[in-house]
Amino acid sequence: MTGMDYAQGRHRHRPPLTIYLASPRGFCAGVDRAIQIVELALEKYGAPVYVRHAIVHNRYVVETLKAKGAIFVEKLDEIPDTGAPIVFSAHGVPKAVPQAARHRRLFVLDATCPLVSKVHIEAERLHGEGREILLIGHAGHPEVIGTMGQLPAGAVRLIETIGDALAFTPKNPDKLAIITQTTLSVDDTREILDVLRARFPRMAVPRKDDICYATTNRQDAVKRIAPKCDRMIVVGSPNSSNSLRLVEVAERAGCPYALLVERAGEIDWAQFDGISRLGITAGASAPEVLVDDIIDAFKARFDAHVETVTTAEESIAFKLPRELRDMPAL
Ligand code: SF4
Repeated sequence: MTGMDYAQGRHRHRPPLTIYLASPRGFCAGVDRAIQIVELALEKYGAPVYVRHAIVHNRYVVETLKAKGAIFVEKLDEIPDTGAPIVFSAHGVPKAVPQAARHRRLFVLDATCPLVSKVHIEAERLHGEGREILLIGHAGHPEVIGTMGQLPAGAVRLIETIGDALAFTPKNPDKLAIITQTTLSVDDTREILDVLRARFPRMAVPRKDDICYATTNRQDAVKRIAPKCDRMIVVGSPNSSNSLRLVEVAERAGCPYALLVERAGEIDWAQFDGISRLGITAGASAPEVLVDDIIDAFKARFDAHVETVTTAEESIAFKLPRELRDMPAL
């Protein structure tokens, strides 16, 4: 049966399919908090609430908040002086941004994930010790821009690949320190760290990298199910770093083909012809409703049986900003 037959509902027989559903998947505590901040601000102060950058990297989340009265901007200059709240996204911002906001007396609600803020504080501490800082991360990602922007220009060197780690020349090899983006591939980062450790044995290396619990847990769950899957769907948006890493992790762990899907409606059914075992996970910014829609779409075309594979339990929750703590939880 071809993909077109499925799409047009011409099938009589639904082939059997086991869906391995990774757990944990989807929203992490930082994303959950960031979305709550926008929603509670809309409730408490009314629309509009300005949000600097996509609050989290998911199109569905952004469109849903827009419909409720959030206005997304990339720069503070786009915001008029109205007294409306402005929320900084979960990825964090360079220091110059809150400084400019204070200068204009804007009402800021900071949705930077506390685990990203922790890296910012660490970067400042290490810089204060007179160290040159290496940041393992991806150029252009807002978290990387925000972390580099905690310190003066030139204080942080970005290392993206093993090649960068091999080519890097320090100002002083005895005064080096490492920090990382929170949403990297655990395995790639370990390899880069190994190269740097071997080259600069006296470098200050944290006991653990800064990859967050949510990124680590989602990658571990994918590694468990990937070897038994013909295909893996990662629910997420193309600008979501942790979702893209899950696609890579799935293929490296033995799934022949993993793909990022934003919504059930965009599934290319031809890619699922003849499969009997499908893995599904979701990046930390992807809401569960999108996962449910995708499972329903498969159930309409396959005789699907869902098996949840749990590799960790998560119970982390972060406090809301003081201004919103009087609001009933959503
Ligand atoms: Fe925070 Fe990790 Fe979630 Fe990013 S992925 S918002 S660092 S918990």
